[in-house]
Amino acid sequence: MNMEIVKINPLMKVTVLTGAGISAESGIKTFRDGDGLWENHKVEQVATPEAFEINPELVWDFYKQRYQASVNAIPNQGHYALVKLEKALGSNFKLITQNVDGLHHRAGSRNILDMHGNVERCFCTKCRKHFKLSDIDMNVRLPLCSDCHGLLRPDIVWFGEIPYHLDAIERLILNSNIFIVIGTSGTVYPAAGFVMTAKYKGAVTIGINLEKPHNIDYFDHFYVGKAGDLLPELIKQWL
Ligand code: NAD
Ligand code: ZN
Repeated sequence: MNMEIVKINPLMKVTVLTGAGISAESGIKTFRDGDGLWENHKVEQVATPEAFEINPELVWDFYKQRYQASVNAIPNQGHYALVKLEKALGSNFKLITQNVDGLHHRAGSRNILDMHGNVERCFCTKCRKHFKLSDIDMNVRLPLCSDCHGLLRPDIVWFGEIPYHLDAIERLILNSNIFIVIGTSGTVYPAAGFVMTAKYKGAVTIGINLEKPHNIDYFDHFYVGKAGDLLPELIKQWL
């Protein structure tokens, strides 16, 4: 572990990867809250294309609940600290998130790649038209497309599907001077491998998490604690 203090100047390219941990202090449960279940469900029952094929009602019920929880949640100090970092760096700051709760957007972050989708959106399985959940009738158990009557599905990248924006993400990682990973267990691939690529390509790598993740060896600097406590202080130090 490197003990030197990190200094970020506005010419540096800084990429941040966030996971469920940054939203924990907003009251949104992480995925691995001890029992390996996600809100009392096994992931394979609610977050795979096969689950949607077998039981679309259950999957829709689950994501309507995730949507309500996200809409009712408010961003925390961790989200806001990243907005501050983006304001200092402008377009040299990029945020990749595995979260689907939309809280970075609501906090005010702009340069965001939602690699796993967003619970506030869905799309038609037949014609691919996208809709906002706020524009569809949530009382209908299986919402249908207003254009072609195809079945709508949540705009979530499920396990076994290819994440969004992978080309752009790869370019970012290869060109980052600093790569910061916050609140992710380092178990869901490909995101868990990004820090390794960033480090091999010469970026300074920084991690913040409530506990040490599996891929800790790839971090030059690691801080154990809550993102909402640590990030505002660290960003003050870095700038
Ligand atoms: P994860 O649940 O596997 O890991 C979360 C990590 O955050 C854990 O290591 C935990 O120790 C840490 N953590 C908990 N509270 C923290 C805090 N206050 N500050 C810092 N760290 C904290 O999450 P993941 O790695 O993001 O993978 C989960 C997958 O499930 C993702 O692909 C994501 O799409 C989905 N998911 C999303 C949300 C969301 O949108 N908020 C929530 C749950 C799951
Ligand atoms: Zn359609």
